[in-house]
Amino acid sequence: MLIDAHTHILSLAEDPEFTAEYGREGSLCIYRSLGLLPSHRDPTEEEWESSGFSRKGFPVIGPVESIRDHPGFDKIVILAVSPQFLDGELIGTVDSYGITDVPGPSTPEKCNDYIAAIVRSNPDVFIGFGSVNPNYRGPKAAVAELERMVNELGLTGLKLYPMYQDWSPADPVMAFPIFAKAEELGIPVLVHQAGSTRVDARMEYANPALLDAAGRHFPSMKLIIAHCGIPWIDEALFMLTKHPNFYTEVSYHIATVTREELYRFLIHAKQFFVPLEKIFFGTDYPGFLYDPVELMTKLRGVNEEADRLGTARIADEEIDGILGNNFARLMGLL
Ligand SMILES: [Zn+2]
Repeated sequence: MLIDAHTHILSLAEDPEFTAEYGREGSLCIYRSLGLLPSHRDPTEEEWESSGFSRKGFPVIGPVESIRDHPGFDKIVILAVSPQFLDGELIGTVDSYGITDVPGPSTPEKCNDYIAAIVRSNPDVFIGFGSVNPNYRGPKAAVAELERMVNELGLTGLKLYPMYQDWSPADPVMAFPIFAKAEELGIPVLVHQAGSTRVDARMEYANPALLDAAGRHFPSMKLIIAHCGIPWIDEALFMLTKHPNFYTEVSYHIATVTREELYRFLIHAKQFFVPLEKIFFGTDYPGFLYDPVELMTKLRGVNEEADRLGTARIADEEIDGILGNNFARLMGLL
């Protein structure tokens, strides 16, 4: 089974100008590193245009586009972004273009309704992870929304963004009620516990080791560390060794490494006592540079590197596991 365990859909803010600025800020250094934008000064409007960075920023992606860009994939995990204020603007997953059948004006407060509507429209392909933010209307409201999105909307996983939303996943008041409810509901929790290129993101809340408290207090909760905890990859891997129900997915990290480095990463994980069954394929689509087919092909080809180097191969079952079977087992699909 081929599964992309980390994708986004729809758009991130009602105001397209704000969305464009948001996307530009997060991708500035990436475009500079590719030689597409000047360093040591702000790019001009013309330079942004000719860099190839879409003027619309986070593009509007509906279910049709997502499936089009995932040829050959059996399942696509779509992740909601819960509401938060950024520079006075309420952002989060919105359906500004009326792609779903959710009635009323578009607002991030309905982020989970939009994700659920897309899953309903194609339940064979989409797996929906809702999202809550305890720093928006408090932990109690977040827990109530978590119950609603699972019991009423039928969503089967939770995505959390502590470092974007200014709360620590080790905070007993903010985080523990959410983890307790997720454990009770038996749903997996994917946490953006990794860095971010956005200036407003709080790196002090981003370390994978901050999830240790969740692992100790909620041992039967299934927790997935997003993006391999980049830039703290070994820290994330160590958390997987320590906690039986911790997993990770490779989005972002897989886009920054060569195929040989990806092969070496998998060998390193095994040497670090991380069974590869704890690792899932993910892309962070529709993020730029994150083409699902290209990244999947990179992972499928790691043994060509092993053969070239004359070193140990990764077993086919292990690669197939990362590409989808591991995640399918976590979700009870296999
Ligand atoms: Zn993401």
